[in-house]
Amino acid sequence: MPISLPIDIEQVKGFLAKDEADALYHYALKQSVKGPVLEIGSYCGKSAIYLGSACKETNSTLYALDHHRGSEEHQLGEEYHDDDLYDHQIGLFDSFKEFRKNIRAADLEQTVIPLVTSSAVAAKNWTTPLAMVFIDGGHSMEAAQTDYQCWAKHIISGGILAIHDLFPNPDEGGQAPITIYRQALASELFEEIEVVNTLGLLRRK
Ligand code: MG
Repeated sequence: MPISLPIDIEQVKGFLAKDEADALYHYALKQSVKGPVLEIGSYCGKSAIYLGSACKETNSTLYALDHHRGSEEHQLGEEYHDDDLYDHQIGLFDSFKEFRKNIRAADLEQTVIPLVTSSAVAAKNWTTPLAMVFIDGGHSMEAAQTDYQCWAKHIISGGILAIHDLFPNPDEGGQAPITIYRQALASELFEEIEVVNTLGLLRRK
């Protein structure tokens, strides 16, 4: 079934393929009836619009976690730097303004709760069980490990752990996301459902 979004999604900056976006939406639609969904790495809101639209359908909530200061690759002079998202006045990357604008345009302000801080700080006092977690944060090994350690434990039995940017071939991309994916499988707490393009989907046993 085609997904109808109240915004021209092509205008939203981000790195998410169509088949991956569709999978996120459909898994979130099924999962969000059981509890809230949380994503790590919101950037300008592309995946939040898919996940959030699904949560809106089921009257659930998406927590959209991002410090909005950009990952390593977004910094000045790096490969994925976007000058439109750089605040020259304070000399820092800032994707939050763009994120807010897009969430408002998609009419998701009553569904998406932004958590504008780091993964570790947001997780500090977290106790809410989560029906689905989507990890798409920093791609350093340290960042990916922190995201996995902080959030995987909050996923309910039958809940989904989705991890973006899996590259089995190291020549095609960084190895941090696929490392935590393999770690989740090795823990035997999760079982593989499917891999859609570079999006891995696991179910909490
Ligand atoms: Mg990604």
